[in-house]
Amino acid sequence: MLFDLQPKTKREDLYDRENELREFRSAVNLGENLILLLGIRRLGKSSLLNVALTELGFPYAKIDVRSLYFTHGSIPQEILAQKILSSFLSTVKPHKSLLLRLEKTLSSIRGLRISGLSVEFERKPDLAEILEKINSWAENENLRAIIAFDEAQYLRLSGIRYDGLIAYAVDTLPAITFVLTGSEVGMLQDFLGLEDPKKPLFGRYAREIVLQRFKREESVDFLRKGFGEIGIEPAEKEIEEAVERLDGIVGWLTMYGYLRGVRGLSHSEAMDELFNMAEKLIREELSSLIQNSRRYGVILKAVAMGNTRWSTIKEYVEFKMGPVNDAKFSILLKNLLKYGYLEQRGNEYAIPDPVVKEVVRN
Ligand code: ADP
Ligand code: MG
Repeated sequence: MLFDLQPKTKREDLYDRENELREFRSAVNLGENLILLLGIRRLGKSSLLNVALTELGFPYAKIDVRSLYFTHGSIPQEILAQKILSSFLSTVKPHKSLLLRLEKTLSSIRGLRISGLSVEFERKPDLAEILEKINSWAENENLRAIIAFDEAQYLRLSGIRYDGLIAYAVDTLPAITFVLTGSEVGMLQDFLGLEDPKKPLFGRYAREIVLQRFKREESVDFLRKGFGEIGIEPAEKEIEEAVERLDGIVGWLTMYGYLRGVRGLSHSEAMDELFNMAEKLIREELSSLIQNSRRYGVILKAVAMGNTRWSTIKEYVEFKMGPVNDAKFSILLKNLLKYGYLEQRGNEYAIPDPVVKEVVRN
């Protein structure tokens, strides 16, 4: 169902994204080692990742790095190793003989105990060694092994140099493809440092798949198809208004469709409820940022109210919160760009998500 709120896992529930799926498939089939799936929140990165992984049919591990980070307050190597192995084993499991040979390859790792899908370490695991074993198994089986980190920028918030590990694997483990998704595109790029000579991944090639919002007609078509699936046909005017306010961001369109079509609310009730739910979500997402500096919230408000230039945004912030020096202010703006809450076109700043814009303005 198109209006299911969970990230999609089945092709038939995923609207379009044909080109992105094709590009993903082609990168894996060409044996590329690093794929980046980029785009602001709620454009469907996790959904695309899920569908691409199941469609390809190669064994994979998929790690939700953000939830790992929030569960543990960092990304400990043991936990990451455990998650990678148990996730990987679960996709190999249906193929008995492949599984047997995988378990045999892994059994040479000292201190590792596997029973079913449960993985334990009697000593601190060496992630590089684990990846080496997965690679040599995949090479022998003539398969590719895919390791996907959803919201990978959270890997940077741990004492461990995961960028170095990924660089090592990309350089020496040809049967492994890493897929990294990121909503905080600038943060992910900083973490990887593909263009930073001081970073381990400097100069490496990555296939970048950038998700865009739907065009107007696609959004309208998406809503129509979704309502069609549940046998209702809302007025043209309502669909137009929803698309006007939600602007091609599939996550919000899905939520609207769910509230209107599945929960059976009227158009205006569904819009109100969407903004209620969105406000909670967005405030929560912004809270850790605003804990660092309250100015982040005020900057977003300034932009939401129509200030688009560096100087007018700064004036607004100073009017509300007192003086801030230019350098500090520029850093705050740059961070909001890196987190994806702002975008910059020429000299103008804007909030890319109309729902975020409405929420922070109030
Ligand atoms: P992201 O990972 O980019 O934040 P998600 O994959 O979690 O986005 O998707 C956000 C919401 O939009 C979810 O409710 C998901 O079911 C829905 N969704 C995303 N992409 C599509 C799509 N192509 N077709 C239908 N629903 C989608
Ligand atoms: Mg996601």
